[in-house]
Amino acid sequence: MAEKKSRKSSSQKAQQSPKKGFPADLWLKCPKCGETLFKKELGRNFGICEHCNYRFKLSSNERIEMLADEATFKEIDADLTPVDPLAFVDRLKYTDRLKQVQEKTGLTEAIRTGIARMGGHDVALGVMDFQFIGGSMGSVVGEKVTRLFETAMEKKLPVLIVSTSGGARMQEGILSLMQMAKTNAVIAAHDEMGLLFLSICMDPTMAGVMASYASIGDLNIAEPGALMGFAGPRVIKETIRQELPEGFQRTEFMLERGFVDLICERAELREKLILLLDLFLKPKGK
Ligand SMILES: [Zn+2]
Repeated sequence: MAEKKSRKSSSQKAQQSPKKGFPADLWLKCPKCGETLFKKELGRNFGICEHCNYRFKLSSNERIEMLADEATFKEIDADLTPVDPLAFVDRLKYTDRLKQVQEKTGLTEAIRTGIARMGGHDVALGVMDFQFIGGSMGSVVGEKVTRLFETAMEKKLPVLIVSTSGGARMQEGILSLMQMAKTNAVIAAHDEMGLLFLSICMDPTMAGVMASYASIGDLNIAEPGALMGFAGPRVIKETIRQELPEGFQRTEFMLERGFVDLICERAELREKLILLLDLFLKPKGK
């Protein structure tokens, strides 16, 4: 019946709703407003739904492409992969979980680190990836962050880390938690050399990552509406048995209370970061 009413051309219809037989990987549905979105269009809009502003999570690759000068990112420590020192088993063996997620994402761990150029400045850049076990920080993530700062100290470079994480990786127990102290120690050494660290928090940045490197940038920058905190709002609400204030632990709430220095839209992030690098670093070539 609907077919009779609608006399639109097939191409118009194709743009309105995904049809059977139409390549599914060209489209996806916005989980907030239910609109069907053309993936290419969504990519051009920095992964933000044009109808309701829902923010899709971006992969580390997409972030790197968005931030670094074209084709300048040179990855380091890409071959560092996790082991399973505790022989941990939850629903799956940790080793099987790792293998599964590595195959699915093509990533070796929840952060990619490297040297890149941004607006002509050399920077040490780390970008976390939520697809990899919720962006959790295990010993390899901590080690890669540490080595990134060590490389930055050798080369006297600023560090930028784009964080998104559910926190420490449970499957590595105390070894995950130790990364908090380790990363903070190396950041302090980098800071003592007078080098710049910009922390950029995406949705969500929580727990062990928020309580270590993500919250101690010289400037802490965040995306609008991102959840940032230690324990999540549901856990806090259930523990203290009180209603939480509106917008609790969201970026805007954190800005008002001094935990965040700057809120920045995805479309403007690269430009703003380059402006900060221009302001904080010595003029290029001098
Ligand atoms: Zn939407």
